[in-house]
Amino acid sequence: MDIRGFIETSFLDWDGKIASVIFVPGCNFRCPFCNNAVLVLKAESLPSIDPALIDDFILKRKDFIDGVVITGGEPTLQADLPAFIRHLKSLGFLVKLDTNGSNPAMLKDLLDEKLLDYVAMDLKAPLNEKYLAATGASLDPGTIRQSVDLLMGSGIDYEFRTTVCPAFLKSEEVLDIAREIPGAKKFVLQQFVPKDTLDPGLLKVRPYSKDDFVKMAAACRDFVKDTIIRGG
Ligand code: SF4
Repeated sequence: MDIRGFIETSFLDWDGKIASVIFVPGCNFRCPFCNNAVLVLKAESLPSIDPALIDDFILKRKDFIDGVVITGGEPTLQADLPAFIRHLKSLGFLVKLDTNGSNPAMLKDLLDEKLLDYVAMDLKAPLNEKYLAATGASLDPGTIRQSVDLLMGSGIDYEFRTTVCPAFLKSEEVLDIAREIPGAKKFVLQQFVPKDTLDPGLLKVRPYSKDDFVKMAAACRDFVKDTIIRGG
């Protein structure tokens, strides 16, 4: 497993849990508002981290750390992700996966094998031609739909999350996303951060105000009761 980043202890990456966070390089999307540009575009410039060192760290703190968050980049691009998660579970840790939802086949295998305790899946835009502009990838939105349906039928805890960048999403479109996932367990509206963005042109974009965010979240609750704001 190629690992290019590690946060020893985080209280922010898994609501209600104390977690270590593993960053996996590379991504098949090019979201202009991505804040992980180095991990996506120049991962080879980051030092590779030996998984054995991570094992050592988390095992020594097993009483304190609830679980491990695997994020990126896009972790499901790594063919050995299932084996890596199997290993973490064998050590007795909960596992949260962050994914862009572009690999429903691997997601299904991971869910079928009960290897995941929580999934945070990005929804970049309504599932139509807008997805192309928001991800810079020529992906059939039907693929994302498959991952949405897998999660909603999985029985595990999960969240869908949307980074609300004013350059790509109007408030009505945020509502359209909520409309696509009626009855989902959780929908998170994340504030856009104009810092280290993959497209430097977005550094000048002003995020939506707290007021706008609160109104968007309230409207989304008609479709997903547990809609929350993160960073807004
Ligand atoms: S924000 Fe987009 S480009 Fe960045 S890691 Fe996530 S899916 Fe990939």
